[in-house]
Amino acid sequence: MSFALAIHGGAGANPKRDYSEQSAHLNELIRRGGARLQSGAAALDVAVEMVEALEVSGLYYAGRGAAPNSEGDYELDASVMNGADLNAGAVVSISGIAHPIAAARKVMEESPHVTLAGAGAGAFARARGLETVDEPALYYTGKAGHGGHDNLVHGTVGAAVLDRQGRLAAATSTSGTINKMPGRVGDTPLIGAGSWADSSVAVSCTGHGEFFIRVSAAHDLAARMAYAGAGLAEAARQVLDNVAAIGGDGGLIAVSRDGGVTMPFNSQGMKCAAITSRHGPCVHVFDRAEDWD
Ligand code: ASP
Repeated sequence: MSFALAIHGGAGANPKRDYSEQSAHLNELIRRGGARLQSGAAALDVAVEMVEALEVSGLYYAGRGAAPNSEGDYELDASVMNGADLNAGAVVSISGIAHPIAAARKVMEESPHVTLAGAGAGAFARARGLETVDEPALYYTGKAGHGGHDNLVHGTVGAAVLDRQGRLAAATSTSGTINKMPGRVGDTPLIGAGSWADSSVAVSCTGHGEFFIRVSAAHDLAARMAYAGAGLAEAARQVLDNVAAIGGDGGLIAVSRDGGVTMPFNSQGMKCAAITSRHGPCVHVFDRAEDWD
């Protein structure tokens, strides 16, 4: 059976910046994830592992690299979806937890709910023994790590995975858009907007979240394949065209049950990487990755 893995470190890249550290990190990560899938690991496990590694790196606006909101506080969002059973979990505006994606998975697997927000989400994650951050202002290094936050650049992280058993999973994590208002919720923790996985496709989005919410981006991609018979790359392009038509920019990564991969964007670049059982690893920042069938 074939496998496929795509990961991203956010839509948008500043041509004046050097992304060699991010590229090297994505290169190392995609090889590690490919090896895990080659040896039979489950899509859900690999999706969460990839996002945890992206979160802890401090290289993107998620997890350790989180950017603060306009009041200087940290409100992180994450979601995960398992295509095999349509199970899903999400956390919204969580703070003080090292891995929001791990909290989202706990919500999925150990609560009766799909989404927990704010203090309740934090208390749930702590009660489940997840790694905490005692001093958010010291732990989150986005500012130092990026040399100043950059409004041009989105830094959400995500993974879309097909495993050798034919199961699909998607995971996405972010600190949201730069200088967001306190309490603002983007697309990342919304199932069907920022993340989606079913038995045909797994999708993780990044970009100006308000626009991705308004077109139900991640689920719309799946619906175009299921109801209109669109191919993976075609469906992804149509979704981004709709985002652009209402004024939004960003990108997405998606893998299909056939082992296809597409990673389109309409922003200036997108940090992303992919590997499949048929294609060796690739890493992209400014140039568009070719679509793999
Ligand atoms: N989509 C994320 C949000 O709107 C931001 C990003 O992709 O960087 O919160």
